[in-house]
Formats: sequence, structure tokens, C-alpha cells
Amino acid sequence: MSLDPYSLCPCESGKKLKFCCSDIASDMVKALQLHEGGQSKAALKILQKIYATNPARAWVATSLAGVYLYLEDAASARETLQPLLQESPDHPLARILEATAALDMDGYEKARSVIHRAFTKGVKYHPEMIGSMAAGIASTLYEEEKLVSARQHLAFAMRFVRDEDRQQVFMRLLDFDGDQGVPYPLRGVHNLRPLTTLSAEEDKVFRKSVGLSALGCWHEAAAVASQLTEAHPENAELWYDIGLYQAWDGDQEQAAVSLHKAASLSEDFEFATSSETLAQLFDLEASQTSEVVRHYAVDSLSKVLTQFDEIPRLHRDDRLVGGENSPGEISYTILDRDPTSIADQENPDLTKLPVVIGVLVCTDKDEAQNSTALCHMVVENEHVEEMQKLIQDSLGNPLENHSVHALEDITFSQWADYRGLYRQYYFDKQTPARLRAVIGKKNWENILAELWPNRPLSGLDGKTPLEASQISELSYKLAAAINVLDAFADRYNYQIDIPALREKYSLPSQESFPVADEQELSACDVLQMLRIPIETLTDDQAAILLNRTQLIQHAGFTEKVLAEVLRREDVVELERMPQIWHAYIDLARDKYDREEALNRIEQAKAWAEKSGQKFEESLQWEMRQLQFLVIDPQDDSLIPFLEQMHRKYLRKLPELEEAITAYLEEHDITPPWNTRGSILVAGSSASSISQEMWPAETPQESTGSKLWIPGQD
Ligand SMILES: [Zn+2]
Repeated sequence: MSLDPYSLCPCESGKKLKFCCSDIASDMVKALQLHEGGQSKAALKILQKIYATNPARAWVATSLAGVYLYLEDAASARETLQPLLQESPDHPLARILEATAALDMDGYEKARSVIHRAFTKGVKYHPEMIGSMAAGIASTLYEEEKLVSARQHLAFAMRFVRDEDRQQVFMRLLDFDGDQGVPYPLRGVHNLRPLTTLSAEEDKVFRKSVGLSALGCWHEAAAVASQLTEAHPENAELWYDIGLYQAWDGDQEQAAVSLHKAASLSEDFEFATSSETLAQLFDLEASQTSEVVRHYAVDSLSKVLTQFDEIPRLHRDDRLVGGENSPGEISYTILDRDPTSIADQENPDLTKLPVVIGVLVCTDKDEAQNSTALCHMVVENEHVEEMQKLIQDSLGNPLENHSVHALEDITFSQWADYRGLYRQYYFDKQTPARLRAVIGKKNWENILAELWPNRPLSGLDGKTPLEASQISELSYKLAAAINVLDAFADRYNYQIDIPALREKYSLPSQESFPVADEQELSACDVLQMLRIPIETLTDDQAAILLNRTQLIQHAGFTEKVLAEVLRREDVVELERMPQIWHAYIDLARDKYDREEALNRIEQAKAWAEKSGQKFEESLQWEMRQLQFLVIDPQDDSLIPFLEQMHRKYLRKLPELEEAITAYLEEHDITPPWNTRGSILVAGSSASSISQEMWPAETPQESTGSKLWIPGQD
């Protein structure tokens, strides 16, 4: 590395090197070459020497601080920068390095003002450094469950990171927007509302807050905008914008206060409802209650497991919530009562069914880490004492203050208001799929007709939805509570009919949200998107909406969009159509609507025939049809279907015939081509097709997120 004396000086003075820092150039180049060659300690020595006589020289101080940061000595980096910052408080690179050191030493919360000063001073000169700092902060915020803030930092980072990093940041944004562990109204973009009725002077103040917001300084933006509330205490849009700034800043608690206020002030019912929805969700996110975890040391794991296997309320499981089982790890589902057989299979009594209340995870001793065998019980608060008694004989007394890192994945939490609302019923493996569907459907009917309407909700000032429907001042809060319920149900892919609930509770019917163009379609927030009148869109617009919909995956809205897209010919390219049909069929399955699913498969087959699908491709529809037909072995169409399937495919594909035979026998169906009876043993290749028919029983495991798990798996 040699420097052209007529190039700009690396100290960022704006002068040419020859007329600026040429006196130290040769030593500096030597030091930086050493650093880049991997000899940072040697570079440090030289830089320290130059620094001793030039502590306020920008090139020296920033280079030395940079090497300190590289060597993970943030304290020395910070100290090094002080003389320079005193002399040139706005030096962009020095501010950025100072913020990097502060973030490392103090954490985001305490370092925030230093970071924001770096954002404002540095973004013009070192946008890429600002971008990567913001992306790093997003990770911290995500871990702290400040979800909206994490997303906003990613969106901010997107604008500035290096081209080669942009794709990665973009993928993180998509991950966030598609993360079913985050309530859907909190995902995607949120937009500031324009303010009217401001004087020219006030408008200037507001625009200053918008400018700060564009620089990632949401804390400061909220403070500036708040000045306007003195003159405009009843401006709903102003409070909404302040609420967004606060949420983007990571202060969800304060954001909830501002958004409640915006909702209470607005004359616009839909605006009030969506502002209130965000506020209620922030409150609920803060109200999450963790389950109780108890740890026990175990002498002999195998002995304990033998004892556990004898306890009917413990069901040995090979699947863990939120991740893979590590070797030497056994888990049990804990039930609230002994399982019994279901008396009335047509109309099962849900109150008699065992409900999952926790898990028991046993880990074997690890010779390498010199650890003993342990059992960890994670159980709902009210069942702790009782469960402890039950397993005490096997385990002895719990260990005090023991913590296990691996358990982070299975300590689930749920919104305080929604505790126990969704009951995860336990079935044994023999439970027929048809019965599972009946139970799944009844579970939700019970939630919607009985449990939720009579549940006191903090968002309704402690009133139940039924009580709130009698109080007109609470109407927008009740409409918001319905949105919250929808976000809760959507976690299980269950569809809530919002318009019907609005009507049931005497609320104004939902207003549609017409969009003028593609720009508006992409920029609206998720709650607005769900109100778009799909049938008015052009094919191009419908295609954009389809992509957004498939990212957010709101079941009810996805169903509407898919139906519309399938009605039209030219929205989706041909090779993507089967995927759209499968998604459409899945949605009927998630509603436990077998008939509708079969109906949709027929439509898909008709489409496939018309578009000239090949033999191998057509088999996939028959396979899906089979999955739904076996749910009801009494269905008259089952045997003719099987005979036809056999003629058409299975005779040519003996391996498939074998698998399907096993699959049918698992469902107590004798295949018409195999009247000699069962010849296959359990555990054969059938497992590859006998997937869980009603996965809506369990919430989707959100990848990489343990943030919002209202039910239990
Ligand atoms: Zn210089």
C-alpha cells in the first residue's frame, strides 16, 4: 500500500494528503500494512507510538481505535478517541467507532444516544458502516423480543449496507415478515400517518421528527414529535406517529400508551381499531407468563424412565418443542389426567379429554462435560405442586436455582389474558383422524362460543367481550380485541370470520381498503392489506398481493386471495399453479372441512387435466384425495376410488402399492386388492405418507423464534 500524495487525506479532512498528514504517512502506512497482514499487535505498537505525540490527529486516533476494536478492547478504543472528539466533535468515523465501542461495552439501551449521534454524523460518509451497525442492533433487539423495533432496524440497514450484504439483510426481513411466531398485525411495514391542521411552524417541527426517523433516531424523533402534543393534545394521527416512533425505538410499553391514546381520540373507526389492535398486542406481549421450570438430579436415568413409563399421565414422546432432540434426551408430555378411551366418538365430550399441561425432559449424563443426569419439568403454574407430588417418588426433591441452557427452547409462555384458552387435547396414536378432526373443530367452536366471549380481557378494561358489546364507548376496543383473537387463532392456522364477529357483537361492519396502484398495494400495513377488496384488482396487482399474502400467511385472507387467483387464468405462471392448489386444499384441511378439501381436489384435478398434466404429476392429486378419504372409512366413494387408483397407478408401482397398503391398514381399511388381510408389520414405509392429517392441532413451530407461543406443543 502506498498513498498518492495528491489523493484525499485518510484523516478525512478533505485536503490532499501532501498538504495534510504527509508527515506521518510512511509510519501510518507501515502500521496499517501490518494490521492488514494479520499482525495487529505489531501495528498497535507503532500506532501507539505515533498516537503518543498526536492524540487528536484523526488518522492516527481512528486507526488506533479501529485496531483496538479489532482486538476486542472496546474500552481502549473509546479512550483513544476522546482527544479527537473534543477537538472535532462531528468527525464521522470517530463517532462511528465511538458508538461501536459503546454498543459493545454498555449494550444498546445505554449506548443509544451515542449510536444515534453516529447515525446522524456518519451516514453521509460511511453509510455501509451505519448499515451493518443497524443490522447488528436488530439482532440484539430481536433477542430482547422488541420485534417491531428489530424489523425497523433491518429496514433501515437495508438502505445502507454493502451490496453484498443487502441480500442477507433482505432475507432476514422476509423471515421476520413470515414468522408465524409473531402476531401478524405486528409484522410487515407500518407507516406514519400524515398530519393535518398544523401551522407552518409546527409542520417544520414534525418534519424534523420525520428526518430523525429516516436516520434511525426514533427515540429523538418521538421526543421532537411529542413537543407538538402540547398544542395538539387531541390529534389522533400525531399520537399514532409518536407510538410508531416509540415502537421502532424498542419501547413497546410506551408505544402502547400512545397508540391507545390515538385510538381513543380518532373519529375514524377502522383507524382507531388498528391503532388499538397494535396497542393491545404490545400490552399482551408484555404480559406473557412463563411456565414454572423445576430441575431434578437423577442417579440412574434408565431406572427413572422405567418408572415414568408406568405413570399414565406421562406420555413418552420423541418430539420436542422448538427443536431437534439431542441424543440422550427423552421427553414426556404431561397430561392433566389419565387418558381414557373416548366414549362417544360421534360427539366427544371435551371436558373428559386429557389436556397437555407441560413437558418433562430428561437428559442423560454427559461424560465429556462431567455432568449428571437431569430431569426438567416445565409445567403450567397451577399444576406444579400436584405434578411434583406425582413424580416425587421417582425423582426426589428439585434442585435449587439450577438452570439449563438447552431448556430455553421449551419454556413456553403465553399472553396472560389468553392462558388456557386454547387447550391442546391429547390423543393416542390410534385415535382415528376423523375423531381428531371432530375434536379440533369442537375445540375452536368452544373457544369462540363460550371461552372467549366470557373471558375478562385487559384490553376491554377488564370486561368480557359480551359485556363490552353493551358499552358503546368500548366498541373500537372490542373490534381490536377481535383482531387480537384473530391473530391468536391464526397462529394455529384457524380462520376467524371477522365480519361475522363484528356483526355478532353489534359493531360497525369492516370497511374495505381500496388501493389505487401497485405502490399503495406494497406499502400498506398488514391490517390494511387484509381489507383490500381483492376482486377490484388487476391481474398484475393480484399477483403482487398473492406474494405478500403468501409471505404473511394469514389463513382467512390467503383463502380469499387464492380463490380469486384460481378463478382467474393469468395471474400465476403455469408451473406454480399446483403449489397454489395444494395451499388452497391445505386451508380447507386446517378448517377441519374434509368435504371442502375433497371438493377442492376435484377442482384441482379438473384444472390439471385441462392444462395437460403428465402421469406422474396427476398422481399427486390422487394421493391427496386418498389422505382425505381415509378419514372416513365408511365413505361410499372410498372403495371405488381405491380400485381405480390401483388400476391406474399401483399395479405399475409395486413399492407404492406396498406403502399405500400399510397406510390403509393403519386406518383400519382393508385394501380391495389385498383381501387376504394384513401382511405388513407396523413401522413399514407407510410412515412416509401417513403424515399428520390435522396439523392445526399444534401451533406451527416458528423457525428460530420462541417469542410467542400461546398454546403448548
Ligand atoms: Zn490529514
